[in-house]
Amino acid sequence: MPLSDVLHQDAAQVHLQRALRAGRLPHAYLFTGPAGVGKEMLATRLAQVLLCGNAGVGASASSAAAHAAAPADADVPSSGGGLFADDAGPSLFGEDTPSLFGSETEDAAAAATAKPAPADAGPVCPGKIDACGHCIDCTLFAAGNHPDYHRIHRMLAKAHPDSTVRGRKATTLSVDVIRHFLLAPIGVRPSRGRAKVFVIVEAERLSDEAQNAMLKTLEEPPPRSYLILLAGSPDSMLATTRSRCQQVSFGTLPREFIVERLQTDRSLPAESAAFLAEISQGSVGMALKYAELGLHENVALVAGAIGRAVTDPLGASKLLQDFAKELAAPLKQNQDDDEADTNASRDAQVLILAMISTILRDAQRRLVGAAPLALGDHALVARLAASADTSSLRGAIRALSRAEYQVGRSVNTGLIFDAAAIALSRAVPAPM
Ligand SMILES: [Zn+2]
Repeated sequence: MPLSDVLHQDAAQVHLQRALRAGRLPHAYLFTGPAGVGKEMLATRLAQVLLCGNAGVGASASSAAAHAAAPADADVPSSGGGLFADDAGPSLFGEDTPSLFGSETEDAAAAATAKPAPADAGPVCPGKIDACGHCIDCTLFAAGNHPDYHRIHRMLAKAHPDSTVRGRKATTLSVDVIRHFLLAPIGVRPSRGRAKVFVIVEAERLSDEAQNAMLKTLEEPPPRSYLILLAGSPDSMLATTRSRCQQVSFGTLPREFIVERLQTDRSLPAESAAFLAEISQGSVGMALKYAELGLHENVALVAGAIGRAVTDPLGASKLLQDFAKELAAPLKQNQDDDEADTNASRDAQVLILAMISTILRDAQRRLVGAAPLALGDHALVARLAASADTSSLRGAIRALSRAEYQVGRSVNTGLIFDAAAIALSRAVPAPM
């Protein structure tokens, strides 16, 4: 799949294209931003560009004419110095490999000699540097078998040769994993000669020891080695790690894009897609996960609990707690992980609180005459809007976010839901 196909991360795309075109890609990137907005997707596609045998401008267009007509040169610095002109590192593919991006002549020659792309290779945006999608490297990459692509994650501890490491809980990305799966292979020449790419997921979970062990490599990686660290909360990483990486931030995705993806990929009706898009807060990855969990099928249950809270808050709390337990089971199955139990119940509780807040926010919108975003004309939203006022709804939403904050912080689940239900009962005057 082409690099240019990753949508709605324009700032990151422009940044990468400029660096690629200037032939001065930094050796260490830190992609930051919320989960599920395309960080790993972009990192993976960038890795493919770096490993592809025919990467270049409009690589699969197979026509020098198409390249010459490409319009995107406008955002290339005319000095040729590139965005990172003072980066002292070697050029994109090092000194000993002919650069595909070195000159117009080489670019045109590469495009002219590229094999015609098969019909299913997918579109490559003309004018942008991309992988060709059909060379041996691209084929290996697509099959998940490229020997020079390394995805580093904390659960690799379970594949570590040392049984002591395998036996430990893999809650952090440990120094053992970094030494064995990153520092050892990065010192060896690339198997297929072009480059070596390491994508480190959940980099915020790197232990301090692991980060310290990586410092020298981040500072001066072996030639043609690239590290791309992905982090949701980079502030928890050591400043020394962050300062050695070129940081690129990723934003949340437009609501309409998420709604459309849910409708096309999951065949969801518009109202279910709208509800999940609201809860996912700009993350298509989370929205797709919620669709898989069937959260949209439980709107009635949550709406029922909100209605019940008016007269029987503790009964409503019990309903919500039971739902949290039910939801935790599939969440746990999704996590092949040492923290599955804790994570699953915490995630389930947070999700249910988010569902309630989403419904209340819709009522708030309706109250002020705006169109509800998540539930449209849902009867509960109409009833809430008719019987509550904005300040009491706001109070309940605040109480729910306090409850979200308490989840996973050693506060008893029963107490959290009791407090949330009592806040709801205060927000909505009986009878509904
Ligand atoms: Zn290729």
